[in-house]
Amino acid sequence: MQTGTKCVQSGYTPGNGEPRQIPIIQSTTFKYDTSEAMGKLFDLEAEGYFYTRLQNPTNDAVAAKICALEGGSAAMLTSSGQAASFYSVFNIASCGDHVVSSASIYGGTYNLFAVTMKRMGVEFTFVSPDCSEEELDAAFRPNTKAVFGETIANPALTVLDLEKFASAAHRHGVPLIVDNTFATPIHCRPFEWGADIVTHSTTKYMDGHGAGVGGCIVDSGKFDWTKHPEKFPGLCTPDESYHGVTYTERFGLGGAYITKATAQLMRDFGSIQSPQNAFLLNLGLESLHVRMKRHAENGQAIAEFLQSHPMVCWVRFPGLPGDPYHALAQKYLPNGVCGVVSFGVKGGRPAAESFMKRLKIAAIETHVADARTCCLHPASATHRQMNDAELAAAGVSPDLVRYSCGLEDAADLIADLDQALRGA
Ligand SMILES: *Cc1c(COP(=O)(O)O)cnc(C)c1O
Repeated sequence: MQTGTKCVQSGYTPGNGEPRQIPIIQSTTFKYDTSEAMGKLFDLEAEGYFYTRLQNPTNDAVAAKICALEGGSAAMLTSSGQAASFYSVFNIASCGDHVVSSASIYGGTYNLFAVTMKRMGVEFTFVSPDCSEEELDAAFRPNTKAVFGETIANPALTVLDLEKFASAAHRHGVPLIVDNTFATPIHCRPFEWGADIVTHSTTKYMDGHGAGVGGCIVDSGKFDWTKHPEKFPGLCTPDESYHGVTYTERFGLGGAYITKATAQLMRDFGSIQSPQNAFLLNLGLESLHVRMKRHAENGQAIAEFLQSHPMVCWVRFPGLPGDPYHALAQKYLPNGVCGVVSFGVKGGRPAAESFMKRLKIAAIETHVADARTCCLHPASATHRQMNDAELAAAGVSPDLVRYSCGLEDAADLIADLDQALRGA
């Protein structure tokens, strides 16, 4: 099946007389005839459901669709993108371990890695996404367990050189984990470029309607953990909390990573997505291919309009020929980028604030990647405690506006931007 058909059809195929739409299995628990039958589930000897903190049939059907879209071997939903990022790393790195990450990542992920996971004993080295192969190699240590990056970084809009990061990871015997939230599998499938694990904040384009917070982790099944058993003891040696099961032996390369994350991390941390939210997410996925095309077309049209506007001093959008990431976007995102554009309003902070007030269609929100256009001036919102020097260090200039194109007609968005810019 082509990607668009997978958006509509994958994950759930009803049998004769069964519901056409994915049923919401709104049940915390599942009934068994004998204790023995249930015992087999607990020992991971039989497949089935026993408690929704670990697994639920609605979630699994939706995860299977995202797995098919990414071309993976196994997938799981999580309660948020943050939970997906955390699990994806913590599943293979624990206290005393080290991870190499692109510095150009979502702020919430940066905080998770640099502050919270550091408190758990996992150390991160952040490298520029534009670093040379030598600089990248130099970031690795004997205890490095993974490399992490974002296909299109939120909010910096840098495009990751997936092949460069994948080959460095593999030279050092570890997997590349890629947050593919902004590109979605419609515009980029990182496994085709050597990535081993993909994560998503499904809260963004996948849901697409600002309805539910959620996340997803997909395994390619291609990384051979058993070649480096000393690096990945959690996957290659017996798990005492599951009667000595060795995940790579029992579940193979295609199933080991996601089974371990479900059996250990979901069991112990419980960041499960509610079946209701999984149902809503699936409605979003059914039109993802149609919507991404429009988001990207609107992003391109708005970026081109802004570039020639007298009130705009700079525009960043990887789809623009002059953009520093244009070449990488052409390679990895040939069918379109996304709907998020950032730009600077002439006149700095006061002009940007005045511009924001005048917008009529774009709503002021911290959200991005929604059907409705939204806009944020970080210097007066998310980054408002910072002075201009601190903003500069964070890579956010006082004039920066982040504009997330929704699904409206580009002509209306352009007219709205034009009147707000002229008024400012
Ligand atoms: C929003 C976002 C996250 C965090 O996801 P939540 O669903 O808000 O927890 C992670 N990565 C990227 C790229 C994001 O945009």
